[in-house]
Amino acid sequence: MDRPRIAIFDTTLRDGEQSPGCSMNVQEKLRLAQQLDRLGVDVIEAGFPIASDGDFEAVQRIAASVRRPIIAGLARACAGDVDRAWQALQGAARPRIHVFLATSDIHLKYKLRITRERCLEQARDAVRHAKSLFPKSVCADVEFSPEDATRTDIPFLCQVVEAVIAAGATTVNIPDTVGYTMPEEYGQLIRTLHEKVAGIEKATISTHCHNDLGLAVANSLAGVHHGARQVECTINGIGERAGNASLEEIVMAMRVRPDRYPYETAVASEQLYPSSQMLAEITRVPVQPNKAITGRNAFAHEAGIHQDGILKNPLTYEIMTPQSVGVPDSRLVLGKHSGRHALALRCEQLGHPFERRELDEVYRKFVVLADRIKKVQDSHLLELIHDVASGNASNGEGAPSQGKKLPPAAAVTLARPVSAAANCNEAHPAHLSGSAGQTTLMIPFTDRHSEQHREQEEYLWGV
Ligand SMILES: [Zn+2]
Repeated sequence: MDRPRIAIFDTTLRDGEQSPGCSMNVQEKLRLAQQLDRLGVDVIEAGFPIASDGDFEAVQRIAASVRRPIIAGLARACAGDVDRAWQALQGAARPRIHVFLATSDIHLKYKLRITRERCLEQARDAVRHAKSLFPKSVCADVEFSPEDATRTDIPFLCQVVEAVIAAGATTVNIPDTVGYTMPEEYGQLIRTLHEKVAGIEKATISTHCHNDLGLAVANSLAGVHHGARQVECTINGIGERAGNASLEEIVMAMRVRPDRYPYETAVASEQLYPSSQMLAEITRVPVQPNKAITGRNAFAHEAGIHQDGILKNPLTYEIMTPQSVGVPDSRLVLGKHSGRHALALRCEQLGHPFERRELDEVYRKFVVLADRIKKVQDSHLLELIHDVASGNASNGEGAPSQGKKLPPAAAVTLARPVSAAANCNEAHPAHLSGSAGQTTLMIPFTDRHSEQHREQEEYLWGV
């Protein structure tokens, strides 16, 4: 039986990157985009081109070098934004313009100060304009998001959705911008749109749920159950405030429970853990230990009775294998007798697939290190990889230092509250201390990036 295919729209580089402490530079975004390509996502939202020159450049460079997935650029519903997004997407093999405009009365009244009529007109005009930019020979790929859809008057939402589809939108996303909705309610909303909107079959309906009440994944699945065929989500669930729906949780919920969610995605699930690790390493925002699928404890069994069961048959306490999501086999210890192959595999699992030449270099340093410290932990390996990647002269002969940008291994202690402006992308507001198993991440208070954030404040609304 053919299962309906759900498109995975990853917005780690846009909505995720907007969240405090998760900024990435262009090079880092490009690296993550390449990993998202390996992961098999259908759409990569690469940024918000008009928000800053850095965002523009990131979208442009990702569009030029990541060719398989659709590359989307976000734009507010006005010609200037749409044109800028289109400009950034020029080199893309499969460009998508993603236009958004708030539709809830509270946003119309207090944020945009426009009437519903004006809102409808503006949404329709922006979609029409975006569509007009695509060459006639290709099918225009335009997505529209009515921001704060879940707090929008439903008849008005239906009117907007109908208008943008008539204007040429090929995907209509229904954002729960503020993380307010409940699963049954959200599912019902998606169903209502299918029942009430004329022409809805011409567009793909998408979910975009925030996690303020911890329901982003449940809401997204409810949306899919009621007819949505695209899910917007992020690696590790990063995003505004409490975050977005977590990509790995959505994908694995469908894979582990096809009896309840009989849908397919094109995600290569064994790339989930490497993607999660790469994001944590780039942003230096650690994954919470009990995070579903990708947390350090997600496959750890400590209680004796559980260990006993697992040893007899893993199915007693595991609903999926660690290998199926790319979690390294903890029984595979890396030491001086380990070969190149085991090292290559572990590097890949940590989000660093290496070409032969780079691997030789890592291996050379690894052997020197393994000779000294017997068991090479992931944190040691990451430091070594970082040395090689940055062309650092370190020869691996010293014991791994504690001062470098290791991904935090355990407890996180904030020296002072991290301001909304703290940008951990700049090296290094983070200072690491402690031993490998018990690292403490100290983040000094800083407001050096507040200006940049102030500049972008109006964009932080997003969808
Ligand atoms: Zn969002």
